[in-house]
Amino acid sequence: MRAIEISEHGGPDVLTPVDLDTPTPGPGEILVRTTAIGVNYVDTYFREGIYPRDLPFIPGNEGAGLVEAVGEGTPDLVVGDRVAWCQVPGSYAQYVVAPVEELVAVPDGVPDHVAASMLLQGLTAHYLISDTHRATGGDTVLITAGAGGVGQLLIQMAVARGFRVIATTSTEAKAQLCRELGAHQVLLYPEATPERVRELSEGGVSVVFDGVGRDTFDTSLASLARRGSLVLFGAASGAVPPVDPQRLNAAGSVFLTRPKLSDFIATTEEYRERAAEVLDALVDGSLKLSVGATFALSDAAEAHRALHARRTTGSITLDPTR
Ligand code: NDP
Repeated sequence: MRAIEISEHGGPDVLTPVDLDTPTPGPGEILVRTTAIGVNYVDTYFREGIYPRDLPFIPGNEGAGLVEAVGEGTPDLVVGDRVAWCQVPGSYAQYVVAPVEELVAVPDGVPDHVAASMLLQGLTAHYLISDTHRATGGDTVLITAGAGGVGQLLIQMAVARGFRVIATTSTEAKAQLCRELGAHQVLLYPEATPERVRELSEGGVSVVFDGVGRDTFDTSLASLARRGSLVLFGAASGAVPPVDPQRLNAAGSVFLTRPKLSDFIATTEEYRERAAEVLDALVDGSLKLSVGATFALSDAAEAHRALHARRTTGSITLDPTR
């Protein structure tokens, strides 16, 4: 099978196409032939070595495909079933072996490329909006990188829960996407100052969902209302330097959290509940997932270059047939 291998940490060029033996599923495992593979910003952190993994490794955690073979003790799935996953290391490949509990059945009507990118970003948006703060409908929230993969889903979920949404992004074209998804106000970064955010939110926002990190952290903190929450969930611009807790006091007794998806799908039950809600919303049309670009699996490096260069909108996928 064709796969992408990383044998040393570094820039996108270390994503190397290789031919490997197709793996065999053991007990409790399923062999899946991938039909589409999700690309996420977190893949770049593993590639660079910011998050540790032993070398060499196949990157990626997310995808969709068809059950090709089943191991012992996997009664719920049969060959040919359509499945998706978001926590299976080694997903940049034509075949993936996954523990059966990691696989979610994909309903008819959800195309492969959507199925391959709905879980990691969809479940992230779901836990961020549901479980990381105490704001309620009518409150104003700020969402950074609103036109991105997580950002687009988060805007829609926030609007659906009755929040007023201010989104930030880098270009007018991306701003237009945010508006179409329901954002009430969109600011391009140069005008996204704390003063402007406070003006639009009558004194500060209840929550900032910040996936950009280093470049936006100070603005995010200064944009909060008293007792607001800064939900720092990513570092697309780099890691935030250490923070003196006294800054949270000075900002108005605000809360700072740095959550990660795996802690919010820590049990199979929670994983399936969140996945079912996201899938239902996609099927009934109340949530739209836009795949902004698809690259050949062999061109995974190009997908990472596009992410770093902020050229992408929505989700990105790899096509394992190319
Ligand atoms: P995106 O599609 O949002 O891509 C990243 C976006 O970040 C860019 O398009 C760009 O949008 C913005 N950005 C701002 N500054 C920079 C910069 N210096 N370099 C590159 N991009 C920049 O990616 P994802 O949706 O995959 O992920 C969004 C964030 O969420 C990431 O930080 C990721 O690590 C995090 N994440 C966290 C999870 C968690 O559980 N904690 C789970 C999943 C994702 P613009 O042009 O609008 O500025």
